[in-house]
Amino acid sequence: MRTHVVGIDIGGTKLATVVADSTGHILSKVRKPTLAEKGPEYALQLLFEMVRETVASADLVQESVSAIGVSCGGPLDTKTGVVYSPPNLPGWDALPLKAQLESEFHIPVTIENDANASALAEYRFGGGRGYNALLYMTMSTGIGGGIVIDGHIYRGANDSAGEVGHQILLPDGPPCGCGKRGCLEALCSGPAIARRAQDAIQKQLTDRKAAATRLLNLANNRIENVKSEHVLQAARTGDILALQLVEETAYYMGWGIANLVNILNPDIVLLGTIAIAAGDLLLDPIRKTVSEFAMPRTAEAVKIAPAQLGEALGDLAAIALVV
Ligand SMILES: [Zn+2]
Repeated sequence: MRTHVVGIDIGGTKLATVVADSTGHILSKVRKPTLAEKGPEYALQLLFEMVRETVASADLVQESVSAIGVSCGGPLDTKTGVVYSPPNLPGWDALPLKAQLESEFHIPVTIENDANASALAEYRFGGGRGYNALLYMTMSTGIGGGIVIDGHIYRGANDSAGEVGHQILLPDGPPCGCGKRGCLEALCSGPAIARRAQDAIQKQLTDRKAAATRLLNLANNRIENVKSEHVLQAARTGDILALQLVEETAYYMGWGIANLVNILNPDIVLLGTIAIAAGDLLLDPIRKTVSEFAMPRTAEAVKIAPAQLGEALGDLAAIALVV
């Protein structure tokens, strides 16, 4: 009886394989470093071994597994299952990941980009349960997103929907990794918050104000070490500069979310990573900006909350594709 599923989470630094039952309950897990510099052939062979190891450690045989779900950084084509050079996986150029896994294990394989898979996992197992239209946004090294409507991922014409981080808010703003300027990601990702903090500290030092001391102390008095975590930490102790940086972050995030909420009219927006760590310190001013910028009816309908799956998100993202 094929009663179980395998999930594969492929990241630039870690590979994880899990086995779950038909309700998404995880029975076993194996995690190994990706060693991305060794290229895709090494990672694939490692994944084949990891899948077998995970199935065995759940006391199952390979014949118990009905399907494999794969959550991987994009760009990728969900129909053909080909991965096209994700930035964190050098050498994965037009890699037929689905075909390779299917020819190894002889069961159906579903491949999805990690942000979409995460959105589906939150919809099935996390903060999106019971809602119809969900928008999920990561807030970490980048700002990615996934849209789930009535239980289905909205992928668009060629799997490129949900690029919520590359809406342009300030056309003359800071450069973004995508080559444009002033994208939401260039203002509110972890590195973008750090860069705004560093610029603000530098300006205060140049103006000979002492207000940056607290933030700078947390980073061992080195401007280049200031990270988004330090901004949150200093804001919690009432540091004025850090609080201004949090306000500014919430303003841009709220602006970006208001744009999306007006278009999609979701009943829930779930925010990951930095928003989870920050909690209401960041979420309350985001909610305020959304209610100011979005149309009254869309603003009224939407709940803005932290994503709920935390550390389990990657595993459940892969599993959500096949249960
Ligand atoms: Zn961009």
